Amino acid sequence: MSQSSIASCTSARIGVLGAGGRMGRTLIQAVHAAGHTLAAAVERSGSSLVGTDAGELVGLGTLGVPVVADLAEVVGQCDVVIDFTAPDATARHMAICAQAGCAMVIGTTGFSPEQKRLLQDTAQQVPLVYAANYSVGVNVSLKLLELAARTFGDSVDIEVLEAHHRHKVDAPSGTALMMGEAVAGALDRKLDDVAVYAREGQTGPRDRQSIGFQTLRGGDIVGEHTVMFIGEGERVEIRHLATSRMNFASGAVRAAAWLSGRQPRLYDMQDVMNLRETSIPTT
Ligand code: NAD
Repeated sequence: MSQSSIASCTSARIGVLGAGGRMGRTLIQAVHAAGHTLAAAVERSGSSLVGTDAGELVGLGTLGVPVVADLAEVVGQCDVVIDFTAPDATARHMAICAQAGCAMVIGTTGFSPEQKRLLQDTAQQVPLVYAANYSVGVNVSLKLLELAARTFGDSVDIEVLEAHHRHKVDAPSGTALMMGEAVAGALDRKLDDVAVYAREGQTGPRDRQSIGFQTLRGGDIVGEHTVMFIGEGERVEIRHLATSRMNFASGAVRAAAWLSGRQPRLYDMQDVMNLRETSIPTT
């Protein structure tokens, strides 16, 4: 991929890695809906989906893009790949993309410290976006949280509520923690020092510095996060509701298109959405 060739592209050639997964299937639909070209679809070797047409996999009809088992076979056809697979698979994909000079958008979570270092190294060779949450709404919410926290300062109590489906294995969610970090950072607090993850029995009065987390689990809830700024006589709630995986997929496709023509560096969704430089007034 040459930087100038993709800079002039209005329609990026995008490869989807993990094409048969929950996110992979949604990504194929999102690439198509955004008018980009699905250039490749990759699944793990041994998957029964290898050889299937990627369009048929998601009900879009034949797109002429067969699912293949090795990114190395098709990386040359892609300006950028979107990878929502698993940490070990993504590590291998990073090596292939660095070698081929192919830009990456990575959504996989759960990297080891060594794999996180590989992410940094790869981003020195190819442009790379990494975000633990690609939802445009969540990333806007982080900025709103910063504004609310700086404006209210120490005059309110802050509580984070999150709800997810009954299959989720970790709590609180990574996004709830990201929101807690945004609020704590804006208030010059260290989340590790002030986070309260459970309350029971004789807790004593609430410490104003603390940031509380409450977790609900049940049914098919895709993901709900509410941060409450609770004062005397009023309360502000900043709330994000995810109703389908399409919000993550369309954010990742937006990141892939944005990456065209960028220099090698590690970017995140705040860069993609041009929120990095947005100034937040302080009290
Ligand atoms: P999933 O298990 O449904 O899909 C993963 C797919 O990757 C599977 O089809 C699997 O066969 C495939 N795969 C595994 N090894 C591969 C390889 N070597 N080459 C190609 N494909 C391979 O999981 P999912 O729900 O789609 O989530 C995938 C990842 O994305 C997880 O790490 C999840 O936490 C993360 N995720 C991130 C966000 C975000 O916004 N950043 C949102 C949702 C999910």
